[in-house]
Amino acid sequence: MNIILLGPPGAGKGTQAKRLEEKYGLAQLATGDMLRAERASGSELGRQVQAVMDAGKLVSDETMIALIANRIDRTDRKGFILDGFPRTVPQAEALDAMLAKRGIKLDRVIELTVDESALVDRLGGRFTCATCGASYHGRNHRPKHEGVCDICGGTEFLRRADDDPSAIKTRLEAYRRQTAPILPYYRDKKILEAIDGMAPIDGVTRQIEGILNGVTGD
Ligand code: AMP
Repeated sequence: MNIILLGPPGAGKGTQAKRLEEKYGLAQLATGDMLRAERASGSELGRQVQAVMDAGKLVSDETMIALIANRIDRTDRKGFILDGFPRTVPQAEALDAMLAKRGIKLDRVIELTVDESALVDRLGGRFTCATCGASYHGRNHRPKHEGVCDICGGTEFLRRADDDPSAIKTRLEAYRRQTAPILPYYRDKKILEAIDGMAPIDGVTRQIEGILNGVTGD
């Protein structure tokens, strides 16, 4: 099974993808995480994308398409969850061509719908475990034991450089202008399903599972 999670920054795509990975044996392919790993490794690509990412703008389609093709080829799980890709219509078209060439079917595109006002708050307060990437929020989703990750016990946490007010504004604009036009593209293909991303985290997971169980016939 192969799915895309679509939605603006802060909609909860990463949080949900991590939950679905284990249950369905899928690989989370998160392009933002891949780019951050490139930066952390000090690679040429990492250096090239640094300024664009920190400003909250989109990296070029060409770079992103090459990056994702490489990962899809290396995935050895039962399928993938794309998180953060595609983000433009040319990326969606390139993905289609890439999958067709490999005989891979895209089963569903799940849109997490959220209020934009909530996103600014979510992004401004979020932090992640430096070891396993689990997401938290300063006000409404802190680790159960202060300073210790619920999932892996890690004690180091990170805030993203692009979770600052000016970059958040640019990222939301990029979503509205460049990513939202993908929705009609998948609606026309009849694989788009929208769910309420404002529900509590467990409720969002249940909605997604309902859709995926429909695909697998469970
Ligand atoms: P994310 O972690 O998905 O919020 O992505 C962080 C940043 O990485 C974005 O603001 C972009 O600068 C870049 N990025 C990630 N995925 C893409 C993509 N598919 N196309 C263009 N830029 C991307």
